[in-house]
Amino acid sequence: MENEQKNLSPTEEPELIKKVGSLQELLRRASGMSAVSETELEDAGIAENIPFPFLALVDQTEMKLALLLSLINPNLGGVLLVGPRGTGKTTAVRSLIDLLPKTKRSLCFYGCLEEDVEAGGMDAVCPDCAEKFGHGEPLSRLEKVRLVELPLNSTMEDVVGGLDPRAEVHDRMRLKRGILSRADRNLLYVDEVNMLTDQVVDAILDAAAQGQYTVRRGAMSATYRSDFTLIGSMNPEEGRLRPQIMDRFGLRVIVEGLTKKEDRLNAYQRSRAYQENKRAFWGRYWEETRLLRDEIQACRDDLNEVELPDQAAQTGLELIEALEIDSLRAEITLFESARAHAIADSRKEVTLEDVRTVAPMALRLRQSPFIEDYLHDQNSETELVLDTLDGMITSSGDGE
Ligand SMILES: [Zn+2]
Repeated sequence: MENEQKNLSPTEEPELIKKVGSLQELLRRASGMSAVSETELEDAGIAENIPFPFLALVDQTEMKLALLLSLINPNLGGVLLVGPRGTGKTTAVRSLIDLLPKTKRSLCFYGCLEEDVEAGGMDAVCPDCAEKFGHGEPLSRLEKVRLVELPLNSTMEDVVGGLDPRAEVHDRMRLKRGILSRADRNLLYVDEVNMLTDQVVDAILDAAAQGQYTVRRGAMSATYRSDFTLIGSMNPEEGRLRPQIMDRFGLRVIVEGLTKKEDRLNAYQRSRAYQENKRAFWGRYWEETRLLRDEIQACRDDLNEVELPDQAAQTGLELIEALEIDSLRAEITLFESARAHAIADSRKEVTLEDVRTVAPMALRLRQSPFIEDYLHDQNSETELVLDTLDGMITSSGDGE
């Protein structure tokens, strides 16, 4: 078999572990990894709530890649995981807790950042921050991105906030913050997004799109920043998602159950080992997990340097045109995820191969006929995206 795992001699292993060239490589290796060292959980800080390790998830490569790309590049528009119950969607999202990078969080109510001054001068920040910047004081601090989960059956009040009933008692009306405001600069996970009311979904998507939202209750109003990466999941058997909502998600992954017997057995064994002793199981993956986390941070820090050359851009645009996709979000997601994929492979330039890898995730479920019966068409849609792209690459590469 061509893609059979190479057997590494024990002497080769440490070198590989020290230097990870690409996320994909780490994923490939880690998915087949049985167990390594027992490690202390000193700096983990997740004593009660130990997530299933990301690297212990069996197979599901596309889901894992999509989630990692969304951590590297918050601008690709988030991820929608589509699949039946019991396929590990929520487990996978929660496992991201160990991989979350750090982000700059403004110290100011208006969200001013140092880079705003660098880009637009002192007028780009509020007067207080302009003064602070002048004195060389920081406008932001580095903070770990958090995973915020929207509870099932959340109401509009939960999501956007509303009047604080406790404050009312003291004859002083106050607005309380909603879940969306806590999601600012974080990941927001919405499980079963197709089961929420239209009103709640619209509020979430509008806030995500605008990066802020305003709550009005009587004479009071408050505006909150809400610049977050949205990760949604849905079970297509439990109801559809309006096409215009589907369109608001960046990457789309069809998550299927494991089909190979050995994968299913492997998944069962790992899940049992995790249930028996979460801490020990988590510890076995910690070294590799930390490497992956550092890799994601490095990729995120360097993302700005990744260029999209004309050839890759033109090919992407032609592909979108050939597939007759109208939404402008298609190219944002396609190019931003290709940039994330390039830096994950330690390159500063997007290649056609990057575009090819992310194209099915970025472009599927964007043509309305497919949305109608995508469960039947999911495989043919992936083939359509890739065949169309391959046809274009072959015909344009004839002269070489
Ligand atoms: Zn400010």
